[in-house]
Amino acid sequence: MKAAVINAPNGAVSIEERERPLPGRGEVLIRVRACGVCHGDLMLQLGQFPFAHYPIVPGHEIAGVIEEVGEDVSELRLGDRVGLSALFSSCGCCKQCLDREEFLCSQMEFTGITQDGGYQQFVLARAAYLTQLPDGLDFVEAAPLMCAGLTVFSGLRHAGFEAGDKVAVIGLGGLGHMGVLFVRALGGRVAVLSTSADKEAEARGLGAERFINLKTESASEALRTWEGGADIILAAPPAAGPMMAAFPGLALNGTMVVLGAPPDDIAVSPMDLIMGRRSLMGSPAGSRQDLHDTLHLAATHSLRAKVTAMPLDDAAKALKQMYEGNIHGRVVLVMN
Ligand SMILES: [Zn+2]
Ligand SMILES: [Zn+2]
Repeated sequence: MKAAVINAPNGAVSIEERERPLPGRGEVLIRVRACGVCHGDLMLQLGQFPFAHYPIVPGHEIAGVIEEVGEDVSELRLGDRVGLSALFSSCGCCKQCLDREEFLCSQMEFTGITQDGGYQQFVLARAAYLTQLPDGLDFVEAAPLMCAGLTVFSGLRHAGFEAGDKVAVIGLGGLGHMGVLFVRALGGRVAVLSTSADKEAEARGLGAERFINLKTESASEALRTWEGGADIILAAPPAAGPMMAAFPGLALNGTMVVLGAPPDDIAVSPMDLIMGRRSLMGSPAGSRQDLHDTLHLAATHSLRAKVTAMPLDDAAKALKQMYEGNIHGRVVLVMN
C-alpha cells in the first residue's frame, strides 16, 4: 500500500510502499477514503509537537470503510463507514476517561502524531475509538469534521454556547469557516474578524451579520458596538495579536476560546478580565461523544465545509500550500 511519511522533524513528505498491516486484538483495518489536511499536520512536519514519534504518517481527519476486523471486535463489521479523529486511544480508566473527557487523558495516543494516521491507503485503528459516519455524510464531507468541525463544536459546547449567543470568529480559515457554519446551525449570531477585506463576501455568504476588518478597525471597539460585545470569541488565528485586540470586545461574562496555537503568548489586561467577569479558555478537539454530536449536527443541517480535493500523491504539495498560507477552506486527500 501507499503511505505518505515524514521521517524526522522538518523532513520532507515522501510517498513509500509499505506492507498492509494486519489488525490485532481489538483493532480494525480501515480502507482510508478521505483524510483532511489540518494545520496540526504542518506543525508535525515542522517539529512543533515534542511528543511526536517519527517516522510518522500524518493525518487525523480520517473517513473510510472497515476492511478487516481483528479478534474481540464485536461492535464493528466489514464495510462499516467510520471516522477516526486525533483521539487514537486513551487509558480508559483514569478520571478523565471515566468522565467522557478522554481527550484530556494523560495516556492519550494521537492519530497521525504518535500513531500512524490517514495519509495512506489503509490505517490500523482501535475499534473502540471509531465513530460510525451518519448516512447523510460522504467521506469527503465527513473528513474535515473529524478535527476542524469537532474542535469548533466542542469549543462552543465547553464555552457554554446557547442559541441566540453572539459569536465572533477570528479568521476564515479551516476552523473559522467551520465555526461560522456551526454557530449558525446552532441558532447563534456571527461576526467575522479578518485581516483581508476580500473575505467579507464569503463571511456574509456563510451567514455572518457583521464583518470587522482588522486592518482598518479596532476589533474591540467594533465588537462593543455589537449590542455590548460578543458572548463568545472563537480564536484560531496564526498569530496572537488579533486575539489580544479582540479580547476587550467580549460582552460581560463573555469567553474567548483559543482553538489554535500561535507561537507567541497571549497577554490580556487583568482589568478586562475582572471588570467584565470575562474568561480566557483553551479547548482541544474533543471526546467521542463530542464527535458523535458533531457528525450528527452536520448531517442534520447539511453543514458542508468548503473542500479542495487532492490525491494522496500531492500530500507534500498540500502541506507546502498551507505553509505558504495559500489554502482556501479545507484540503482533503482522496484515496483511490
Ligand atoms: Zn485516561
Ligand atoms: Zn487537527
